[in-house]
Amino acid sequence: MRVIFLGSPGAGKGTQAAVLKDRYGLAHISTGDILRENVRSGTALGKTAKKYMDSGGLVPDDVIIAMMKERLQEPDCRGGFILDGFPRTVPQAEALDRLLDGMGITLDGVILFEIPRQLVIDRLTGRRVCGSCGEIYNVRFKNTKVPGVCDRCGGELTQRDDDREEVVIRRLEVYEEQTAPLVRYYEEKGRLIRVDAGQEGDRVVAAIEKAVGL
Ligand code: AMP
Repeated sequence: MRVIFLGSPGAGKGTQAAVLKDRYGLAHISTGDILRENVRSGTALGKTAKKYMDSGGLVPDDVIIAMMKERLQEPDCRGGFILDGFPRTVPQAEALDRLLDGMGITLDGVILFEIPRQLVIDRLTGRRVCGSCGEIYNVRFKNTKVPGVCDRCGGELTQRDDDREEVVIRRLEVYEEQTAPLVRYYEEKGRLIRVDAGQEGDRVVAAIEKAVGL
């Protein structure tokens, strides 16, 4: 299975990708995760990306495209992959088409996660991440037994810098301006599959499995 997960920040793309990755042995390629890892380890890429990420804007296309060109050649992609958070602009989508063509690979589909804006705002501003094991919680929808402490490992919960409300609003504007045009791009190619991402997580996963014939 080779699919793109398309949808606004907070639509649940990363959460559902993690489930499908484990179930089917797919590579889960999240550009946001790769960038955050680079920021943490202080690479040149991380330093460039950080200023865009902190403001809620997008990292320039050429940087992202070069990063993904390398990532898609890695051996774990051979068994199938989920692209989560990429492409995010039309130039990125065009570059991806060229890359996949060059590799002789076709996509099985582009899953559009459809979700109401207010639910996204509640999810993102309520999201907390364990600083030790990476487990994701939500103060509104999935809180820990002891506030601020990870149920799984006892680590301390933190909020992503870009999950602060003013940055979330900016990220949603950026999505509407730069990423939403991809809906039309993939619809015109006959590749778009719409999924209701506002429902329970296991129902979202089931809808995706059905849509791509798993
Ligand atoms: P995410 O975790 O997918 O919400 O990504 C977090 C941030 O990383 C975004 O707000 C962007 O600044 C940056 N980012 C992630 N993926 C991309 C992409 N495909 N193109 C440009 N910037 C990206």
